[in-house]
Amino acid sequence: MTEPRAPSPQSRVYDVCIVGSGAGGGMAAYALTKAGADVVVLEAGEPWDNAKDSAMLTWPYESPRRGRSTKERPFGEFDACIGGWEIPGEPYTRAPGTEFAWWRARMVGGRTNHWGRISLRFGPYDFKRKSRDGLGDDWPISYDDVAPYYDQIDRLIGVFGSKESLANEPNGVFLPPPLPRCHELLVKQAADRLHVTCIPARLSILTRPLNGRAACHYCGQCNRGCKVNANFTATNVLIAPALATGKLTLVTNAMAREVLVDTGGRATGVAYIDKTTGTDRRVRAKVVVLAASALETARLLLNSTSSRFPNGLANSSGTVGKYITDTTGTDVGGFIPKMMDHVPHNHDGVGGMHLYMPWWLDNAKLDFPRGYHIEVWGGTQVPSYGFMGGIHRYPSGGGYGKQLKDDYRRYYGATIGFSGRGEMIPNDGSYCEIDSRTVDRWGIPVLRFHWKWTDHEYKQVKHMQETFRALIAEMGGQVLSPMPTAEQGYGIAAGGVIIHELGGARMGDDPKSSVTNRWCQTHDCKNLFVADGGPFVSQADKNPTWTILALSMRTSEYIADQMKKGAL
Ligand SMILES: Cc1cc2nc3c(=O)[nH]c(=O)nc-3n(C[C@H](O)[C@H](O)[C@H](O)COP(=O)(O)OP(=O)(O)OC[C@H]3O[C@@H](n4cnc5c(N)ncnc54)[C@H](O)[C@@H]3O)c2cc1C
Ligand code: SF4
Repeated sequence: MTEPRAPSPQSRVYDVCIVGSGAGGGMAAYALTKAGADVVVLEAGEPWDNAKDSAMLTWPYESPRRGRSTKERPFGEFDACIGGWEIPGEPYTRAPGTEFAWWRARMVGGRTNHWGRISLRFGPYDFKRKSRDGLGDDWPISYDDVAPYYDQIDRLIGVFGSKESLANEPNGVFLPPPLPRCHELLVKQAADRLHVTCIPARLSILTRPLNGRAACHYCGQCNRGCKVNANFTATNVLIAPALATGKLTLVTNAMAREVLVDTGGRATGVAYIDKTTGTDRRVRAKVVVLAASALETARLLLNSTSSRFPNGLANSSGTVGKYITDTTGTDVGGFIPKMMDHVPHNHDGVGGMHLYMPWWLDNAKLDFPRGYHIEVWGGTQVPSYGFMGGIHRYPSGGGYGKQLKDDYRRYYGATIGFSGRGEMIPNDGSYCEIDSRTVDRWGIPVLRFHWKWTDHEYKQVKHMQETFRALIAEMGGQVLSPMPTAEQGYGIAAGGVIIHELGGARMGDDPKSSVTNRWCQTHDCKNLFVADGGPFVSQADKNPTWTILALSMRTSEYIADQMKKGAL
């Protein structure tokens, strides 16, 4: 990746200031610099370059920790993400009784450095859910408004998959998918017998060279960052080419504090802390784009108070921080005896699943209103610290010495798992607000979270558990954990834990009930835009990032067009 340029003199006025360089901010930087705008990106984290900084192909035995997670690397020592559930000096709080966890990246490229790269388009139904079942709200835009941008990012970034022509899982511009591995073939057979739709996965990993990037060589270590850039990161696929235009100033270790406005209510720039010195700084711009991740963007808006906007910027509707959602999730793992003592063979593949199961049922015939998709894991992977989750869980597993080593060899690769990822409906009990009694290390007030699941989500997760157990039984396997009870919420993960948090600045045509319009432009401040998951009206049963990217590209084109017309 090209080295960041030094910040420019404070007297300069940029065309656009973008806060955050993850999926949303990276795409905005790419699209706006390509359109000729003079852009500054403020990024709270450190520089990162996959090609130099990735731990790809590091063996577990090269570290005394064998890859075990650390406080700085909760997903494992070799994981690419700098950040975590807790960041020293950057707390958040929870209302009494609230279970919520907030993952934050602090690096160029944000969470796209270690995300799962499951790259699903929202479908036509996902934008119009209220019209279909009366719950939540419709988006002011439809699938057809976003489809051309999905097509563009498919071609720019690259995604593999297969054209299935399913009603709510639109086809994309796909690269060929990799073939299923042995354990995935068994899953496919069981899914077919149970009439669960099972199709090739859709991941933004190159199975063919694309736009100067090499194809994947199937080392299976995508979460470490790919040294050859065969998978998507905002860092090397969006920010690096944006820097190469000469139109981007990337300021790292720059923690945005608030958006600045003039007396007329126009955004004039952003105040930030230079984390390397702790000093307050400002950058001026004609347009401000917030892409600090959905909840951090809500925090920035709520902290941007002024005499004109005493309740926070763009918050005349009182809905900043409201209608926030996360994907529902639960996991079930199983031991599949017929996968024991397997004949060694080539299991190479991408660092993620080759198959998945999109939502296949009709909610009108079920006792919960929204669907989920199923992600598949298991088989053989490079063993590292804690692999197989403890041999004692396998029949007659455990012991000492040679017997123990033999058991590991026999059972290795004989595990299958399923993760359900479903749609939560926004509710009044789930929101974030400023906790005026707590500040971070720079004196910036932090967020306090309120979180509530409803019966819709609990019943959906119960269905996930039952389905996964049925699939494992169909494969002749044994489930490794008991069915969670109603009191245990059927195993639903706490809010935030699936790391798909969205909303807090939702879009709508009515300024009384929404923060942004259909272009992700705030109703109250015309030269202020949101380019992360903040404007999402609903969650969908899909992972959100492909839609964050498509909307950010759409918003950026709109900004470029409006600037050209002198409307901003
Ligand atoms: C382990 C994991 C797996 C995932 N898998 C998938 C998946 O398979 N598919 C999928 O669709 N999604 C997945 N996601 C979610 C995905 O990573 C996010 O949806 C996506 O990265 C969101 O993009 P963003 O730009 O809004 O935020 P981010 O990517 O988090 O970027 C935000 C950036 O803003 C910076 N920032 C924050 N606050 C400030 C501030 N005050 N000032 C300046 N900069 C700031 C941060 O440092 C960060 O770099 C996964 C996430 C994780 C953690
Ligand atoms: S599996 Fe492919 S894309 Fe992932 S890190 Fe390895 S080479 Fe790169």
